[in-house]
Amino acid sequence: MNCTFCGKQAVYVRPYDKIALCKQHFNEQVKKRVQKTLTRYKMLKRSDRIAIGVSGGKDSIALLHILNKIEEDFPESELVAITIDEGIEDYREEGLFFARKHVEELKLEHHIFSFKNDFGYNLDEILKILGDRGKEREFGACSYCGILRRKILNKATKDIGADVLVTAHNLEDEVETILLNIIRGDIQRLARLDPHPRKIHESLVPRVKPFRATPQAEIVLYCVLNDLEYQEIPCPYSAEAYRGDVREFVFKTQEKQPMLSFNILRGQDKLLEIMKTTQLKGTLKNCENCGEATSGKICKACWVKTQLENY
Ligand SMILES: [Zn+2]
Ligand SMILES: [Zn+2]
Repeated sequence: MNCTFCGKQAVYVRPYDKIALCKQHFNEQVKKRVQKTLTRYKMLKRSDRIAIGVSGGKDSIALLHILNKIEEDFPESELVAITIDEGIEDYREEGLFFARKHVEELKLEHHIFSFKNDFGYNLDEILKILGDRGKEREFGACSYCGILRRKILNKATKDIGADVLVTAHNLEDEVETILLNIIRGDIQRLARLDPHPRKIHESLVPRVKPFRATPQAEIVLYCVLNDLEYQEIPCPYSAEAYRGDVREFVFKTQEKQPMLSFNILRGQDKLLEIMKTTQLKGTLKNCENCGEATSGKICKACWVKTQLENY
């Protein structure tokens, strides 16, 4: 198969539009899609200090390199990396290693925050205290981890004086989140899944996902073709995730319907357009404990803390 653009040997054929790409054109297309996503949703401003969350996995490593390239054209803006150490034995160390390696290579500022320092407990400790899922513990490990990671990433972004937080969620991640919100009937949260950077509460920094239209397969290939090393082993707690079922559905169905994820993503964007006309009123309040955004009385991070303290 030859590259659709230049006729050279192709390294990849996109299943959703049958376009064949050589290495050079593959790289170009991946970067172009990120640029398009940034522009379409006005994700970044010219003089932004941009914080990117780098875990050391394929998504964040690939996005770090691509954004760093794009940034070269915007000298007034600045890219800085944040890594969160959740405290997961036999796992996080390796991710930290790859995160450090790439951030150093690109000569960027790197800020490392940890659950232990910012919350008082690391993830292993939290799960040990709360016991096994299904017996003593109500939610999966990823729920607790996600709640705290979101909170600490938000605080970290403010602490280092950044204007916006970039995360490397890819197309399928985004589609899973959309589907999960629909499955749970959580329309408020679905409405908050707006790709535009928005200040939905005074305590929350705007978050953007420049990879939201980039399929996972292309990210993996981008890393492989460009010799970007990343952490490949999955988190030891990932088996507990409820997300897994939806994830399996997305990837399985996608084999037969390559446009599936793009269609869902486009559907979400259209839905948001319609929702904009129906005013979503004051859905977020201040946490009674820490003052940060919450839809209830106290935020989820404070709720986890109460649980831990009651044990
Ligand atoms: Zn080509
Ligand atoms: Zn709180």
